[in-house]
Amino acid sequence: ASSDKQTSPKPPPSPSPLRNSKFCQSNMRILISGGAGFIGSHLVDKLMENEKNEVIVADNYFTGSKDNLKKWIGHPRFELIRHDVTEPLLIEVDQIYHLACPASPIFYKYNPVKTIKTNVIGTLNMLGLAKRVGARILLTSTSEVYGDPLIHPQPESYWGNVNPIGVRSCYDEGKRVAETLMFDYHRQHGIEIRIARIFNTYGPRMNIDDGRVVSNFIAQALRGEALTVQKPGTQTRSFCYVSDMVDGLMRLMEGDDTGPINIGNPGEFTMVELAETVKELINPSIEIKMVENTPDDPRQRKPDITKAKEVLGWEPKVKLREGLPLMEEDFRLRLGVHKN
Ligand code: NAD
Ligand code: UDP
Ligand code: UDP
Repeated sequence: ASSDKQTSPKPPPSPSPLRNSKFCQSNMRILISGGAGFIGSHLVDKLMENEKNEVIVADNYFTGSKDNLKKWIGHPRFELIRHDVTEPLLIEVDQIYHLACPASPIFYKYNPVKTIKTNVIGTLNMLGLAKRVGARILLTSTSEVYGDPLIHPQPESYWGNVNPIGVRSCYDEGKRVAETLMFDYHRQHGIEIRIARIFNTYGPRMNIDDGRVVSNFIAQALRGEALTVQKPGTQTRSFCYVSDMVDGLMRLMEGDDTGPINIGNPGEFTMVELAETVKELINPSIEIKMVENTPDDPRQRKPDITKAKEVLGWEPKVKLREGLPLMEEDFRLRLGVHKN
């Protein structure tokens, strides 16, 4: 039995009077922290398709950009706030998708103390907000909570193998504390929580130079540069296309299970295999070169998605070979590289 079933949380606070008023009974007001980022902006697109949804994005633009949301700026059901989640936020909402946090190692390592503040104080503030207004809150946690896993593939019940003092710890341990805070607010204050453990996700609008492997390889292939495989190249990852990810997150939010639930694509590739696939699909004439790696790089990672299948009726639909060309198209436009 999950730890959740063993607790008897206090009843959640009643929704705020504003949200109960006859003026907005049918509408759902949804906050997306980090909504100007890669996954967040795709989630905004999907939520805006439903005319009953009002969407508010709060973002400090550290790694995200207004450009990702340009089609919604000025829309009557959409609002964009420049806001840092480490500061309190007083608004009225029904649901919170809490994504705010840099996801790429080069950005989260750039100011590690800020990354911890974002994960800990940022999540605390979102939970304080959820508590005050009686909103349901979903945290986008990460497969990095499993660290360099000793169990493969990783089920949600695995507690992980994380270095608490390494260069990735600001992110890994930050997300672990964020998960702890979520469960403590749930047990202590009856907040409705959802936790997604996201595995590597890719797709259009990824930051071109954010250093993540798929964006690096596609940009390198289009610029005619060698693909940089970090040693040993046998380390594995499992890549989920962003539309599948958004579908999984929305099912989790709307369902009854608190999670944590792994959301990711179980198709597993070594970094050499990924490089060879990108080379074959995008630019067969480029080289693949081996370069030095960074510390604490997990050797293997693959989600066990049994729980997502059972509880959410979810599984990914887009295969890597289908998703890469969709991302290539977006990168060509942004880099100004035309297809011959
Ligand atoms: P992203 O960097 O594109 O988006 C993060 C967004 O949060 C950006 O718009 C950024 O400006 C904003 N942000 C960062 N710090 C903030 C702060 N203090 N206050 C307000 N806004 C802030 O990353 P993404 O890939 O879209 O990831 C979204 C979420 O999913 C993150 O929580 C990340 O940890 C999680 N996640 C992503 C992946 C992945 O492969 N992309 C994997 C695991 C988990
Ligand atoms: N908070 C927020 N918006 C709200 C309510 C709370 O940002 O609408 C912040 C608040 O500033 C605090 C945190 O959330 O730092 C936790 O709030 P909670 O009420 O749980 O704790 P307390 O304020 O009692 O420490
Ligand atoms: N990687 C690589 N070449 C690159 C960037 C990353 O081989 O140009 C490798 C990296 O060593 C890691 C994997 O790709 O093993 C995934 O790295 P990424 O930063 O994309 O995500 P994360 O480590 O957070 O899973």
